[in-house]
Amino acid sequence: MDLKIDLHVHTCYSRDSVTTLKEVVTYSKRRGLDGVAITDHNTVKGALRLKTPDIIVVPGIEISTLNGHLLGLNVTTPIPAKLDIKETIHRIHEAGGIAVAPHPSVFYKSPPSRQIKSYDAIEVMNGASIPFQVFTYLGKRFAAHLGLPQTAGSDSHYAPEIGAAYTIVEADPDVDEIVAAIKKGATIPMGEAIPWKIRVERTALKLKRKI
Ligand SMILES: [Zn+2]
Ligand SMILES: [Zn+2]
Repeated sequence: MDLKIDLHVHTCYSRDSVTTLKEVVTYSKRRGLDGVAITDHNTVKGALRLKTPDIIVVPGIEISTLNGHLLGLNVTTPIPAKLDIKETIHRIHEAGGIAVAPHPSVFYKSPPSRQIKSYDAIEVMNGASIPFQVFTYLGKRFAAHLGLPQTAGSDSHYAPEIGAAYTIVEADPDVDEIVAAIKKGATIPMGEAIPWKIRVERTALKLKRKI
């Protein structure tokens, strides 16, 4: 079946996000998502704590490697930051996960090294990137160049941003099946940039809460 999954979502377990775990479920359902990957910065705590029968939760992490950010999907054990990216990919695989290169061309978002070819997939659409169209074009070109599967995610740090970009994954609703399907390329990246109105709201909230 075709599952609609936002493969890049931050929660309040990331220092720079305000989204509660309850909001993840509420907004995912509102956006018609079948599931999300929780990919907090350098921690799996939020991903492990989010237990719900309402959506599929792919546990994950966004690791700050020495060579840029890297997503680990289907990872439930913490993987240390500040390691060489090749070593980090190896650790993700050892933990039973897959390594996805997020926002590979978005120069201001600490993109992962473009010299590495051993990613399992490339995030070609990142809802938080501006200009979205340009970076989507460059991301798709990079993935095609390497012949790797393509994913999409909102990179949301504020609940209303969830689901702006998402991946259609052709798989049964089971985390292992989903990750296997991503690895073999049964994915279609979909969506759009996070709307300006929501970005402005988030910035206002950020100033208020001083995060
Ligand atoms: Zn990132
Ligand atoms: Zn992120």
